[in-house]
Amino acid sequence: MADIVPAAVRSRMMSGIRAKDTKPELVLRKGLHNAGFRFRLHRRDLPGTPDIVLPGYNAVVLAHGCFWHGHDCPLFKLPSTRQEFWQTKIERNRAVDAKTTAALKELGWRVGVVWECALKGRTRLPLDDVIGACTKWLRSDRPELEIRGK
Ligand SMILES: [Zn+2]
Repeated sequence: MADIVPAAVRSRMMSGIRAKDTKPELVLRKGLHNAGFRFRLHRRDLPGTPDIVLPGYNAVVLAHGCFWHGHDCPLFKLPSTRQEFWQTKIERNRAVDAKTTAALKELGWRVGVVWECALKGRTRLPLDDVIGACTKWLRSDRPELEIRGK
């Protein structure tokens, strides 16, 4: 059976470093910037060091990698080897996500999640749609947003 972990993920696993500026996040940042939004990046003083912080909108936007965050979508597949190890690791990541989201909300932040599958691969949505949905949400007072691929 072929190794099904994407090459990019594999190289990150091997180096033991998780790249901060993963591509979907860059795509999202560029789109929001082009739409006129200004934001801070990876603010360490907030729970979970959120990727994109828009203080003027009381909002953070997280670009979630579907593998690391265990998304229920075609981009997520458990590696064929050491399944128990990966399952535990990803479940832990998901628990951290839930805790982080709760902590951010507790502090009065609104939390938007844009999944990697909305930005890349065959499930991706037109970037204009993603940015449009983010824009609408940012200008609203809704506490949550979640955008996933089709
Ligand atoms: Zn996904």
